[in-house]
Amino acid sequence: MPETNPRILLARRPQGAPVPEDFRLEEAPMPVPADGQVLVRHRFLSLDPYQRGRMDDARSYAKPVELGGVMECQAVGQVAASRDARFKEGDWVLGGFGWQTFSVRPAKALIAIDPAEAPPSTALGVLGMPGLTAWVGLADIGQPKAGEMLVVSAASGAVGQVAGQLGKIAGARVVGIAGGAAKCAFVKDQLGFDAAVDHRAALDPQLDAACPDGVDVYWENVGGAVQAAVFPRFNNFGRMVMCGMIAQYNTSTGADAAGAPPGPNLGPVVRKRLRIQGFIVGDTGWSRYAAFRAEMLGHITAGKLRWREDVVHGLAQAPAAFIGLLEGRNFGKLVIALD
Ligand code: NDP
Repeated sequence: MPETNPRILLARRPQGAPVPEDFRLEEAPMPVPADGQVLVRHRFLSLDPYQRGRMDDARSYAKPVELGGVMECQAVGQVAASRDARFKEGDWVLGGFGWQTFSVRPAKALIAIDPAEAPPSTALGVLGMPGLTAWVGLADIGQPKAGEMLVVSAASGAVGQVAGQLGKIAGARVVGIAGGAAKCAFVKDQLGFDAAVDHRAALDPQLDAACPDGVDVYWENVGGAVQAAVFPRFNNFGRMVMCGMIAQYNTSTGADAAGAPPGPNLGPVVRKRLRIQGFIVGDTGWSRYAAFRAEMLGHITAGKLRWREDVVHGLAQAPAAFIGLLEGRNFGKLVIALD
C-alpha cells in the first residue's frame, strides 16, 4: 500500500478558460477507514463539463469546490480495505470520490458494480451519469417519435452518443453535430446516425441538406453558434432538450468562445408552440437508475448500443485533459485511468 494519496486540488478560480495553474497536485496522507467505512483505490476518474461550473464561486444547483479542495468527480475503483460487511477487498464500486487516488467513504454511500456485466469504466459513461442524462432527457422532454427528426449537438461525446442512439432505437431520424471529420465519421459510420454535420464548417448548408423537413427535437449540449443555427429550423410542436451549453461555460456573458450572442430570438416559441425545458440528471435520474441500467444492458446485448471512451492515463494528466474537454479535444467519454 502506498504511503501517500496523490490528489488534485483547485488552486484558484479560473478567469475564463481554465489553465494548468488553476490546479495543484499534492501528496496527501493515506486516509484510514473507521467502522462502517471503506478505503477505495480509484481505477477510473470521470471528467465531465459540469466540473467547470464547480470551479466558479457562483450560485448554481450545486455548491462550488472550495479553494484548496479536491476537484470533484465520480470515479470507479476497487475496495482496498473494508470495515463494513457489505464490501470486501477487490469489490468494484462507484462513488463521488474526486480527483485523487484513494478515498475513504461510508459503505452506504457506495454503489456496487458488477464487472461481469460490462467493463467497469462504463459506469462513468454509457451506463453511468452521462448515459442516464441522455435516457432521462429523451424520455421526459425530447420524446422522439418514429419518423421525427432529432438533432444532437456534441454528438460524439458522452451524452450525445447515447442520446442519438436512443433516438434511433425510438425510430427517429437522427443528425449529429460534431467538431471535425473524424468525429462526424464516427457518429455516422459507427453509431449509425443518419447524417453528421461538422460545426467547424459552415452550418447552414449542411443543416439544409441533413434536415430538409425541419427539426422536431433538438438535444442541446453546446449553445452559442450551433444553437443559433438549429433553432430557426424547428417544426411546430418541436422540443428543445436543454441539457448543457458547453460553448458558453468559459465566458461570463453567455457568448460562446467565437463571440456568438447568448441565444436566439424566442419569437418562434409561441408561433410554433415549442417546448424548451432544462433539466439536471440528478433531479429524478438516480431514483430511476435500475430501470435505466436494465434497459441499456438490453440494448448492448442486442447490439443496438455502442460507446466510445477517450482514456487518458495518469492523475497528473487530468488538468490538461479537462482543459481539452472544454475545447473539444476529447473524442468520446473522457476518463482518467489510474494504472
Ligand atoms: P462531451 O463528452 O460531449 O465533451 C464535450 C464536447 O463538447 C467536446 O468534445 C466538443 O465536441 C463539444 N464542445 C466543446 N466546446 C465546444 C464549442 N465551443 N462549440 C461546440 N462544441 C463544443 O461532454 P458530455 O457529453 O459529458 O456533456 C455534453 C453536455 O451535456 C455538456 O453541455 C454538459 O454540461 C451537459 N450535461 C448535462 C447534464 C444535465 O444533467 N443537464 C449531465 C451531464 C452533462 P465537438 O468537438 O464535437 O465540438
